[in-house]
Amino acid sequence: SSLMASEKEAALAAVPSDSPTIFDKIINKEIPSTVVYEDDKVLAFRDIDPQAPTHILIIPKSKDGLTGLSKAEERHCEILGRLLYTAKLVAKQEGLEDGFRIVINDGPKGCQSVYHIHVHLLGGRQMNWPPG
Ligand code: 5GP
Repeated sequence: SSLMASEKEAALAAVPSDSPTIFDKIINKEIPSTVVYEDDKVLAFRDIDPQAPTHILIIPKSKDGLTGLSKAEERHCEILGRLLYTAKLVAKQEGLEDGFRIVINDGPKGCQSVYHIHVHLLGGRQMNWPPG
């Protein structure tokens, strides 16, 4: 995505599918990332193109069809809760006592560029509302 002019361009170019993504390579440590939290179910690592002083992605190690939130089924409820709970743990670990932002982009209009569900944790600066 760093070769793209913008995240929006990357999102509009991305083809939604259940194929493996770059996040599988990050999970398997085939490509490096700065991991800030890991357990048997989830991985949290720093975004390569940070939009805030703290910008971390929290992902399930097993995608299980969950390319994005719009593909969620009842069986995903546990992992969805775990992603949000991990975001809370990492926010504390990052010292974001005064607040933070959680984002889940979905589909082209939601600016999703990687089709492996991920929760963005953003913090360390004042957020604005509405988001762009
Ligand atoms: P989305 O736009 O799909 O919600 O978010 C995808 C995020 O993944 C973007 O913020 C992008 O910067 C990040 N990203 C894409 N490729 C890589 C990579 O290889 N390593 C890391 N650490 N982040 C990546």
